[in-house]
Amino acid sequence: MKRLLQWRGFQFSIQLPNVLVYILVILTGLYGTQVSTDNFATVITWIVWWAAIVFTFVFFGRLWCLMCPFSAMAEWLQRLALWTVKRESFGFNWKWPFQLRNLYLATVMFLILTCADHQFGLVSSPLYTAYFVLIILAAAVVVGLLFERRTFCRYVCPIGGLIGTYSLFASAELRVVDRNACRQHKDKNCLLGRGEAGYGCPVREYPGEMDNNYSCTLCTECIKTCPKDNIAVNVRPFAHDLVNLNEKRLGLDMSILAVVLLGLPTLQTIVMIAPWEGWMQALVQFSGLPLPIVFGVVFLIGALAIPLGLFAGTILVFRLLAGKEQVSYRRLFINFAYAFVPLGLLMHLAHNVKHLFGESQILVPVLSDPFGFGWDLFGTANLQLSSFFSKGLLTNLQFGLILVGQGFAVYVAYRIARKLFGANASGFLRGLAPVLVMMVLWSIFNLLVLNMPLMERH
Ligand code: SF4
Ligand code: SF4
Repeated sequence: MKRLLQWRGFQFSIQLPNVLVYILVILTGLYGTQVSTDNFATVITWIVWWAAIVFTFVFFGRLWCLMCPFSAMAEWLQRLALWTVKRESFGFNWKWPFQLRNLYLATVMFLILTCADHQFGLVSSPLYTAYFVLIILAAAVVVGLLFERRTFCRYVCPIGGLIGTYSLFASAELRVVDRNACRQHKDKNCLLGRGEAGYGCPVREYPGEMDNNYSCTLCTECIKTCPKDNIAVNVRPFAHDLVNLNEKRLGLDMSILAVVLLGLPTLQTIVMIAPWEGWMQALVQFSGLPLPIVFGVVFLIGALAIPLGLFAGTILVFRLLAGKEQVSYRRLFINFAYAFVPLGLLMHLAHNVKHLFGESQILVPVLSDPFGFGWDLFGTANLQLSSFFSKGLLTNLQFGLILVGQGFAVYVAYRIARKLFGANASGFLRGLAPVLVMMVLWSIFNLLVLNMPLMERH
């Protein structure tokens, strides 16, 4: 494995197939049939890719970033090289403005993406899916040509913040073996690069001090450049970063995104339940406003205002109940947001289990006829496959995942409380009660929503 990861062509060999797949997505989206279940663009992007990558977050963190076709194409252009090392950059190499070195832009981009999905029916439109891919690609290329390294991945990518947050839960990590060796090594090749061996870290992480998975895109450059052979890939318990967070590296931007990621999977499931369209029509009639505006307002309330308001209120009650053992409101808010990450992640997983295990078999016929032109390239175009998983089994799986998320969330909340208040403090247990109540109520609400009849989006 070490030889493979040190090979310069490793990342390119994983990126290239994804680039080819996404070129096909653009072509089929633009020129193929507009029936979403018959078009390669919508099937591979929204039923297979979007559902499957959530599983990679759980086990491997930012594995997707290693192979992402958008950043691959932007980086190839920026470096004017596919896998070899070139010192001069084709782009302007500007520094990203200091005021934007946070996750607010990425959070706004993610909210716009999710809102656009529902407004324009992105996931059920091959044409819009192709436009979406082209827009993300154009943004990655423009940012890559103007700014240094992988600025797009770190500060702009609409799913970059989501991947980083969920990666804190992952059961694998890339870390240095011996921090002392890093302190004594003046050249810092992992950060600055080393001749033909490799580039400096594309997201400007210094492995010698890296203590969580948030930013590392697993590009493997530091494995190639470290002359001390000091980088390891470790397997570890789930939620490891969440219970060992270094407060100095946390910001309000990351905590707000963590809470938004709790609200979004719930909202995404609610918009699929049968009465949703009736409610929207009733609101349109009541307000006299056009549907896109009504939906936009409902979306902002559901994805932002309700989860953030509930969380802010819960932390206020926590602080009152904790009594004399006071910790500042800001510290409580920033830290406890991460207790909800396992819940949001496992709810996200539960939401996508149905797509991946219940619908992804339609990729088999679509592979033979990606444009929907009536081709039969592999002799599978007319196969009518049903899922291996019954509806009941999928529902049970979804319930099980939410309960697992609930268990992890309680554990992380307890560990964060102990870290903030000290093992011998007593007030934090009283204060923890409202956080646990909010978690349980949120889980019950999601279980109820998942148990309602859902409309197919494809
Ligand atoms: S190059 Fe290797 S030893 Fe040197 S600072 Fe980086 S990870 Fe540590
Ligand atoms: S820390 Fe290493 S693997 Fe992670 S992004 Fe930086 S160079 Fe790549």
